[in-house]
Amino acid sequence: MAKQLLGKEVTAALNEKIKANVAALQEKGITPTLGIIRVGENGSDISYERGATKRCETLGVACEKTVLPEDVTQEELLAVIDKVNKDDKIHGVLLFRPLPKHLNQSVIENALDPSKDVDCMTDGSMSGVFTGKKIGFPPCTPQACMEILDFYGIDCTGKKAVVVGRSLVVGKPAAMMLIQKNATVTVCHTRTKDMPSVVKEAEIVIVAAGRAGIVDDTYLSAGQTVIDVGINVNAEGKLCGDVDYAKAEPVVDAITPVPGGVGSVTTSVLVGHVVEAAMRKYM
Ligand code: NAP
Repeated sequence: MAKQLLGKEVTAALNEKIKANVAALQEKGITPTLGIIRVGENGSDISYERGATKRCETLGVACEKTVLPEDVTQEELLAVIDKVNKDDKIHGVLLFRPLPKHLNQSVIENALDPSKDVDCMTDGSMSGVFTGKKIGFPPCTPQACMEILDFYGIDCTGKKAVVVGRSLVVGKPAAMMLIQKNATVTVCHTRTKDMPSVVKEAEIVIVAAGRAGIVDDTYLSAGQTVIDVGINVNAEGKLCGDVDYAKAEPVVDAITPVPGGVGSVTTSVLVGHVVEAAMRKYM
């Protein structure tokens, strides 16, 4: 039976560190604050926003929310970003993406001050992931995967790792972070040939394909650690990952469940970035 890598255990440890840092900031009269900018009423954005707001409240981080209509103009949105950039009380900013098609997403993303870029929205932050320099912050989801590996003492050094997915939000930065941890990394995508045999060779597998249950026991082998980033809704309307948990669990050594794995850690990583942004400024 595989060991379950539980998000709540990792989150509890992260939250303790965050609380200590919040207390140190509060001693200096600073309340770390997350600025949330949402365009439109997308259900998954609202649900993530609710989770982030609640986690912020629990950890002593304030939230300032700006909700804009779906038909907001580029100029109006840029003006909001300029305002949060100049607002000393806001330390980190979360802008929900993708943005509506009429907006130039790249221009808007890069308008944010990198020091407030707590979810790796700007090219500057992304360059930090590749260069190892502390520019902005790494994306929260792949960092959550690394936090899980660290918490459970899974050493990546010299290990073969496979990342399924090459998006800029998850797959590519996850691969970079694994290299940083001295793993030997292969990235799979829709053009990868014979993916099952590639994934089987790995000791650490991170799956971020956005396809419910595509990785099953035919891709997996004994001794593997599997981190499932996927969040999908199955035919029965239930949340499920990109890994077929029921088939994978008897085969591998350790696995994250969905729900209860990466997702909850991601929120604490985000709040941790807001607090770190405030600390970089004042401590
Ligand atoms: P994405 O932008 O759609 O990228 C998916 C990647 O997976 C692409 O690189 C694609 O390859 C690859 N892929 C798709 N189907 C594949 C297949 N059958 N075989 C091999 N590769 C395949 O998705 P994303 O934004 O990276 O998100 C991935 C998943 O993570 C989604 O389920 C999303 O909901 C979830 N997610 C979770 C969190 C969290 O906090 N837990 C946060 C963000 C995202 P090509 O490049 O060749 O098309």
